[in-house]
Amino acid sequence: MLRNNDNAWESNIRKVTPYVPGEQPKDKAIIKLNTNENPYPPAPGVQRVIKNMDIDSLRLYPDPSIGLLVDELSKFYGVDKDQVFVGVGSDDVLAMAFLTFFNSDKPILFPDITYSFYPVWCELYRIPYETQPLDKEFRIVKEDYYKDNGGVVIANPNAPTSIYEENSTMEDIVAHNPGSIVIIDEAYIDFAKESALSLTKRYENLIIVQTFSKSRSMAGMRIGYAIGSRKLIKALNDVKYSFNSYTLNQTAILAGVEGVKDKDYFTRKIENIIDLREYSENAFKRLGFSFPQSGTNFLFVTHEFIPAKELYEALRKNNIYVRYFDLERINNYLRITIGTKEEMDKLFEILEAYIDDK
Ligand SMILES: *Cc1c(COP(=O)(O)O)cnc(C)c1O
Repeated sequence: MLRNNDNAWESNIRKVTPYVPGEQPKDKAIIKLNTNENPYPPAPGVQRVIKNMDIDSLRLYPDPSIGLLVDELSKFYGVDKDQVFVGVGSDDVLAMAFLTFFNSDKPILFPDITYSFYPVWCELYRIPYETQPLDKEFRIVKEDYYKDNGGVVIANPNAPTSIYEENSTMEDIVAHNPGSIVIIDEAYIDFAKESALSLTKRYENLIIVQTFSKSRSMAGMRIGYAIGSRKLIKALNDVKYSFNSYTLNQTAILAGVEGVKDKDYFTRKIENIIDLREYSENAFKRLGFSFPQSGTNFLFVTHEFIPAKELYEALRKNNIYVRYFDLERINNYLRITIGTKEEMDKLFEILEAYIDDK
């Protein structure tokens, strides 16, 4: 008799189409240029602190306020401790921020080509959204964000385009949105010119989100953070403590502190990557590729006559993984992480042989 209702519970399951992360192949022989990780190891202090870890300390819960790391970040960025929020990678921080800040019936706004996790969180939390098309050069049209909305999220530099927009553009968008919260996702900002951090002093409705995954070589440790006004940071913490009090584990807290402390190492490695980016730009140009100017640790390249998908597959056969998005407007582009000099030279060697054969 109950048969018709047997599967009624299915209608109560929250349905989402999940975000698809880049592949993490086990084979060490593969040159991995597909998820924008840093080719250099974390700061030496990170290894030291993990090696000397007091295992007995793992019996206890970690500090729910992540105090040591919040302190270190507040010193590094010259802001107060109550202006810093830390989470399990910036994906966790962004997910928490969407949940905390985007609760309007009006749609939130973000570009049509950007980090593909944004529409996934909107679907998960049932946040209405409206994408705004980037122009033909993949630049943000700032006026598109001046209309009435339930919030704004902008990745700057943008992914996967690699383009950095000036702070004045970010300020224009924030200034035109006194009634909404604006999130700037600065996952790649350390490879670009200037963070919008200084704007948080003047705009209480602005929050910036950064990560240890790219510029600090610690994607495997999962640490991200947000900086903004006390009001926004308190709201984020209230939601976090209503969800899971202990987000960062003890090892991540201690390793994170070391990752921030070593400013010299951090600046040197970023310089190395920017030098390699310039070197790679020249090599790509010689091979017939073009790309927007990058403010990141990757290049978004397209070839003058060979389709991106074909190159993606050819590289894969040669154990080089890059990222290809089979999406409208960008399906003739490859997103290629800047690896070590040796990795890039191998990439160019294989590309050259393939292109010469055509
Ligand atoms: C890599 C990336 C993230 C996520 O970084 P995690 O801190 O590793 O979660 C967020 N936004 C953009 C635009 C990214 O490229």
